[in-house]
Amino acid sequence: MTQQHTDRQPTIAVIGYGSQGRAHALNLRDSGFDVTVGLRPGGPTEQRATADGFTVVTPAEAAAKADIVAVLTPDMVQAKLYEEVLAPNMREGACLLFAHGFNVHYGRIAPREDLDVILVAPKGPGALVRREYEIGRGVPCIFAVEQDRSGRAEALARTYAAGIGGARANVIRTTFKEETETDLFGEQAVLCGGASALVQAGYETLVEAGYQPEIAYYEVLHELKLIVDLFYEGGIGRMLEFISETAQYGDFVSGPRIIDAGTKARMKEVLADIQDGTFARNWIAEYEAGLPNYKRHRQADLDHPIEETGRKLRAAMQWLQDARPVAAKPAASPATAQTEAA
Ligand code: NAD
Ligand code: MG
Repeated sequence: MTQQHTDRQPTIAVIGYGSQGRAHALNLRDSGFDVTVGLRPGGPTEQRATADGFTVVTPAEAAAKADIVAVLTPDMVQAKLYEEVLAPNMREGACLLFAHGFNVHYGRIAPREDLDVILVAPKGPGALVRREYEIGRGVPCIFAVEQDRSGRAEALARTYAAGIGGARANVIRTTFKEETETDLFGEQAVLCGGASALVQAGYETLVEAGYQPEIAYYEVLHELKLIVDLFYEGGIGRMLEFISETAQYGDFVSGPRIIDAGTKARMKEVLADIQDGTFARNWIAEYEAGLPNYKRHRQADLDHPIEETGRKLRAAMQWLQDARPVAAKPAASPATAQTEAA
């Protein structure tokens, strides 16, 4: 029998209580939704959810009674979770919600025909989604509809986005394909991969030339925040307004020597690997092999000399000790995702 749709608020099951899960669950509850948290008994975030006042049930129980099931576990465990726990338990005509389109877009999850399938992705880490909500603002959200069986899938996505605070900022429609491919490209080429490699190379260049590591750290990592804040507030134009003429001239003549046509050509290769599924295949194989390269690369980043220099310098910056880190991760690190999934 198909579920009766009424105008009452949808009940929501949040599966996973990490970066996104915690923020969504708390914001939705504060927005008046009936939220149940679904976690494996004894899992690493169960205590946190209980301490936040949620009744924690198993993912199967949570999925069985909700109108919307928000899948907020690590991407690599979602296919198995869907297959073994969500598909057999979700109600007829319920709504399956993701915060990243990876599994649906690359065909690892083929959702049941009767379900609405939507995506609501805040453009920021969970701690920021929560913090902005608490001060009465919101992080912009993008949403997408992959399957609309009820005729209300878009309305559900907008309701959920509003519930986590996104509607206070901006809500933009996308597709699973666009969200997945642009999200992966952004984090690989610019945000995480590009930015960290640029900082490390700049630091190494100065230190290898005999400059003090502390001075190099301030120049290429610490001050980056000031520049990114200007981009964020008013684009590149805002940065140009605030930096000296000398810095502007240096930007114009040297920026293109660092990021040149070859860099852009390689960005296109990275994008092509994302679009044709090569990146997804490699990542899944790496995950299934127990993350050998992932662990090696992660350790190399953690062992880079800039980390030790930074630790010492940050300890002397009082405001950093007081700050509530935006990226604080309540969950275990992704390096443990493999064991968690087991
Ligand atoms: P996370 O690693 O911070 O948290 C994962 C949670 O899932 C933890 O509570 C963990 O205990 C639980 N979990 C792990 N395996 C499980 C299983 N088999 N069954 C039930 N629970 C399990 O994850 P996250 O970074 O919040 O990512 C969640 C989703 O949000 C992903 O799809 C990710 O792509 C997306 N997303 C994340 C961000 C971000 O900034 N972290 C931003 C946008 C979208
Ligand atoms: Mg991402």
